[in-house]
Amino acid sequence: MDLGLTGKRALVCAGSKGLGRGCAEALAAAGVEIVLNARGAEVLERTAAEIAAAHGVKVTAVAADITTPEGRAKVIAAAGEIDILVNNAGGPPPGVWSDWAHEDFLAAIEANMLAPIALMQAFVPGMSARGWGRVVNITSAAVKAPIAQLGLSNTARCGLTGFVAGMARQVAPTGVTVNNLLPGIHATDRMAALDGPVAQAEGISLEEASARRKATIPARRYGAPQDFGAVCAFLCSQQAAFIVGQNVLVDGGAANQTL
Ligand code: NAP
Repeated sequence: MDLGLTGKRALVCAGSKGLGRGCAEALAAAGVEIVLNARGAEVLERTAAEIAAAHGVKVTAVAADITTPEGRAKVIAAAGEIDILVNNAGGPPPGVWSDWAHEDFLAAIEANMLAPIALMQAFVPGMSARGWGRVVNITSAAVKAPIAQLGLSNTARCGLTGFVAGMARQVAPTGVTVNNLLPGIHATDRMAALDGPVAQAEGISLEEASARRKATIPARRYGAPQDFGAVCAFLCSQQAAFIVGQNVLVDGGAANQTL
């Protein structure tokens, strides 16, 4: 399907690996020029070169911490005018609800709620003025079905979800759509980092821990970054112009819900 995105420009945050990279790849495959961000310059430069070579589009790497005001200022300056914003950052650590201190909540809210809001505030006015734009916020399936040990994530991402629910409808008249994309379990470094402690706590191998988890997913596998990226690219497409303020689950059926 031609997504109608040839020649558009996208900023993909936290995109040197995992789900962000999956989104960048799918957009590049649709002819979108990419501004790619992550903190670690080496992996970022390599990923940018690989995506550019694979898809024949310009990919500009901007190494910066997207959760800090300084990092965002660097990315915003380097990105210039963009048509598509994919908001993403690392997720908060797991833990126990009674252990988290005020600072832990602030860090999670900074990274997974206030950073994407600041980037929308930076880029959406320009999109609105030009009459076309797409924003996809990578959040989590935990917004629909809480993961207790990821309480910091549940908290910050639900805050972002509430903000987007109102804001998306305010900017929709200007031709800009804002939606959230909710990953279930995908095979990325982040997932390996979460499977490890489970295996350790239960005294089982990493393979056994992931086999048990896969058995809880109706699709019987972890998602691939490509599965996720394809949905992101569709939400950015011309065809998705009437999808506004939605929370789209990509989870292999794992959330056992009717709606
Ligand atoms: P990942 O494979 O660990 O990749 C994270 C990417 O983000 C890397 O490119 C990393 O590069 C970059 N990054 C991390 N912190 C950053 C920061 N402060 N500023 C800029 N770049 C940053 O993670 P993932 O699995 O793709 O997860 C992406 C997001 O989806 C996370 O918020 C995660 O919690 C959420 N999520 C993932 C899953 C899953 O199953 N994978 C499920 C639900 C939610 P650098 O380290 O070099 O910066």
